Amino acid sequence: MNLQERDKKHIWHPLTQHKLHPETLAITKAKGCVLTDENGNEYIDAIASWYTCMYGHCNTYITSKVTAQMQQLDQVVFSGFTHEPAIKLSEALIKILPENQNKIFFSDNGSSSTEIGIKMALQYHFNTGEKRNTLIAFEDGFHGDTFGAMSVSGLSVYNGPFEDFFLDVKRIPVPNGENHQDILTLLKDIVNTNKVAGFIYEPLVQGAAAMKMHDASGLNAILKFCKAHNIITVADEVMTGFGKTGKYFASLHLETKPDVICLSKALTGGLLPMALTTCTQEIYNAFYSDDLSKGLFHGHTYSGNPLACTAALASIELLQTQEIQDNIKTIIASHKTFGNTIKKHPKVKAIRQTGIIFALDLDVKMERYGNLRDKLFKHFMENGVFLRPLGNTIYIQAPYVITKAQLQKVYQVIKEVLDVI
Ligand SMILES: *Cc1c(COP(=O)(O)O)cnc(C)c1O
Repeated sequence: MNLQERDKKHIWHPLTQHKLHPETLAITKAKGCVLTDENGNEYIDAIASWYTCMYGHCNTYITSKVTAQMQQLDQVVFSGFTHEPAIKLSEALIKILPENQNKIFFSDNGSSSTEIGIKMALQYHFNTGEKRNTLIAFEDGFHGDTFGAMSVSGLSVYNGPFEDFFLDVKRIPVPNGENHQDILTLLKDIVNTNKVAGFIYEPLVQGAAAMKMHDASGLNAILKFCKAHNIITVADEVMTGFGKTGKYFASLHLETKPDVICLSKALTGGLLPMALTTCTQEIYNAFYSDDLSKGLFHGHTYSGNPLACTAALASIELLQTQEIQDNIKTIIASHKTFGNTIKKHPKVKAIRQTGIIFALDLDVKMERYGNLRDKLFKHFMENGVFLRPLGNTIYIQAPYVITKAQLQKVYQVIKEVLDVI
């Protein structure tokens, strides 16, 4: 039996309806931007394995640092203990985060990082003597799959059976450059009739909503409104963080900085799972007390794992190199050129780009997980490119180290698909 067959026996995959999608592909090797399957077929990883391995798979700088750390300290409890990898990471990160960020809380996946952001917002008000129980979030947002994260997410495909158990969330549309007065009116309405603790949002790009992009000035107006009403702003940068938007963080494109920032995905360059929730000194101060119960009683067994911290530090060092920064600029320019060559194609409804994130909507009707989406996926894979369309949207979020030839091949298969659908 090959791996694909053995897998079927005991494994239940994430986000998978196994009856409709019984086949999984066994990957045996990954290097740079290339995945190799058990039959020796190669695929360009044009979505960086869910936006994680931005410096390439098995990046030798990151793996060598982690290999050395493995000989020194593998894992230790992070309550009451500390270690150099976490300290070095915190120092490096504070230098590149928006200047109002000053404290870093560790966890091990993106959903937990937003869950913690939500808890910080709720407990901040609880601790300062004003119980506020409502949260605001964008329509179509995605913040993860645990209960708090699901509550604030607006994509109902995933949420059906759980909605009765959700937190109290009011939803607002994303700013599109024209609706910003309407949103402010809606916000006034919400704060007049609810006690709002926090606003959670994916800044500039909503990933799971099929790379929906929105207007920075509109978002800025929302953030200003929140600040004026003491609503804690939580930027979910799990996807947009670490260079994707052309700056280290999407929040750096905005004048008003968030109180809390959630990070994961590219944080460790895809080598190990880790997440962080960072915040301002002011948030931290609301938990700092002689009263034990005012602390943030949240922790995960692997919080602050030294190996993950080491991978994250190495990744941040790479992100800051001239080489990676130049690559980011090259990819941004290259996507622009590609966009111009296809935007008038009769099958293309719209194109959009923020930094190295490029998306195009097909002008065809299809279900989010319908047949056509599967056909597109199959076409890409048969032609050696791993792209994962979301509904009728094809998007690219390739590693920063993708070569010119690899990128051209990604564009080529997308062009071909436009002619065969
Ligand atoms: C992926 C993602 C999450 C959830 O992260 P997990 O590590 O998958 O739990 C949360 N928010 C955003 C914006 C994401 O892209």
